[in-house]
Amino acid sequence: MPAFAYLDHNATSPIRPAVLDAMVEALRAGGNPSSVHSAGRAARTRIDVARRQVAMLVGAPPSEIIFTSGGTEANNAALAGTGRRRVLVSAVEHESVLKAVPQADIIPVDRNGVVDLAALERMLAGSPPTLVSVMFANNETGVIQPVAEVVRLAHAAGALVHCDAVQAAGKAPVDFRGLGVDYLSLSAHKLGGPTGVGALVVRAGAPFTSDRKGGGQESNRRAGTENVAGIVGFGAAAKASQDGLDTVALRGRLEAGLRAIAPLATIHGAAVPRLVNTTCISMPGVRAETQVMALDLAGVCVSAGAACSSGKVTRSAVLAAMGVEPAESETAIRISCGWNTVSEDIDCLIAAWKGLYIRVTHSDLSQARAA
Ligand code: PLP
Repeated sequence: MPAFAYLDHNATSPIRPAVLDAMVEALRAGGNPSSVHSAGRAARTRIDVARRQVAMLVGAPPSEIIFTSGGTEANNAALAGTGRRRVLVSAVEHESVLKAVPQADIIPVDRNGVVDLAALERMLAGSPPTLVSVMFANNETGVIQPVAEVVRLAHAAGALVHCDAVQAAGKAPVDFRGLGVDYLSLSAHKLGGPTGVGALVVRAGAPFTSDRKGGGQESNRRAGTENVAGIVGFGAAAKASQDGLDTVALRGRLEAGLRAIAPLATIHGAAVPRLVNTTCISMPGVRAETQVMALDLAGVCVSAGAACSSGKVTRSAVLAAMGVEPAESETAIRISCGWNTVSEDIDCLIAAWKGLYIRVTHSDLSQARAA
């Protein structure tokens, strides 16, 4: 058992023991999957097995899986590879989508963070050939998008659809064929696999070209010697997460516990379907960095809802798109459970959050009395 409660699975999920074992075995075995000798063929077989495991997790034909270096590469490749010049993306996409297509038109979301389908329909009307990119579930709030509806509207208008399912796969049922999307992005490290490996699923017949120059790996769709151990780890993680995450009870316990401490705390996106592992909550009056640091000192790992890079915390673009006021979004933290979360982790978080809340509210009271 780790000495801390790790509740930041949406940042990265700890590697599963079965994944580690499979990767060590693949690393020991070595071999280049393009070699024709037995060592090469064994490596190729390992990749084929992993391809089937990943395909099974998301209901896709194995031949439509292209392994990549992660979710960022999958998103970039999809957005660049369709040949569609007009792109529509939702306002709450991950920055690996938003920054890949700075010229994109933005589909607004409502106060719950759900894409505005009427706005999408208007944007598609009379549009030239378009690509629509809407994520399956948001990384900060866990809010799940109506992807099947997006596909229906987009296909009716002759548009293609890309879906970033990086946060959803392994946590919620993702059905590539059932949804009817044309492109789907995945990442291994969000479901207990290694970092630096992911996949882009491309529907057979959907236009796709890669700008990578090199060998003919991945059926000429992604040049470069495959990351065999990483791909094997991804396959093992996909197999282990086949049953999805059953953290509904933990989330219920967590959210009830936090609301009992601070009844005025807002849980962002609480009114709509969310991933069962994610809670984005604002503690009234306490900045997110303060909460993250106080929880860290108490042995609990969570993250600030706002993006934090080089020590500078910026306002969350996701919460801003949902119309959350800056004062409230600056107090939002993200708590995300995963495959190894136990109820003691939740209790630890609740106790630490309560301690901080009492300290802050008491010091506010004493300041008010002194004034
Ligand atoms: N898309 C979403 C929704 C994410 O949350 C992330 C990572 O946080 C990515 C894409 C990028 O994935 P990767 O870290 O594998 O590049």
